Amino acid sequence: MSSNSQEYNQRWREANKEAIRDSNQKYRLAHAEKISKQIKIRYQRLRDSGLCVRCTNPREKHKQYCDSCLKKHNAEVKKCREKHIKSGLCRACGLPREQENKVHCNKCLMKYRDDTRKNQERFRHTALSFLTDGKMCCSNCGLPIYQTLEFDHINNDGAEHRRREAGRWFSFPKWLIDNNFPNGFQVLCANCHSFKTKGGKLPTKNELIAAYETAIKFLE
Ligand SMILES: [Zn+2]
Ligand SMILES: [Zn+2]
Ligand SMILES: [Zn+2]
Repeated sequence: MSSNSQEYNQRWREANKEAIRDSNQKYRLAHAEKISKQIKIRYQRLRDSGLCVRCTNPREKHKQYCDSCLKKHNAEVKKCREKHIKSGLCRACGLPREQENKVHCNKCLMKYRDDTRKNQERFRHTALSFLTDGKMCCSNCGLPIYQTLEFDHINNDGAEHRRREAGRWFSFPKWLIDNNFPNGFQVLCANCHSFKTKGGKLPTKNELIAAYETAIKFLE
């Protein structure tokens, strides 16, 4: 009986393939919010437990997928992107593009800009923390104002360095991290850095006090 009913079910599904697909699609559209919430919860759970977010097999710690799922995922993304490019749509999400001269739609452009900014900030924080031993202050005057901290080429060969790296996208903090923090770099506050680049040497304590006293007069 069970094998009969199984066969019957299978035949029924075969015969009503399109109707089933339509009703599934309707369900997904009607419950989009609920489904996306469930997907997010599952994703987070697997991420936290160190399992592949696709097949739930073990994976390497810093990745989301196991090796086999990563290959599948990359192939799918590539196929999708090629399809979108062919149809002249946003290559990431497949929706129409607003700007002729851009390969992404405005929403994706904004997302990428935001991601880039966040990554840059993370690289900057990591590099500053490494070079200052976590103290996050100027190595000359000790000023601990995060926003004013800059990277300094100790031997003043910054221009040459940039020229060597020119021709490709260049993020200085990321370069430091990727190259395992080579010697010759330090962290200075914007004032000490400016003294050094314009005057050729780092300011003394007295020079700084004089400069700050002048500044305070204007602030009061
Ligand atoms: Zn997997
Ligand atoms: Zn898009
Ligand atoms: Zn300083």
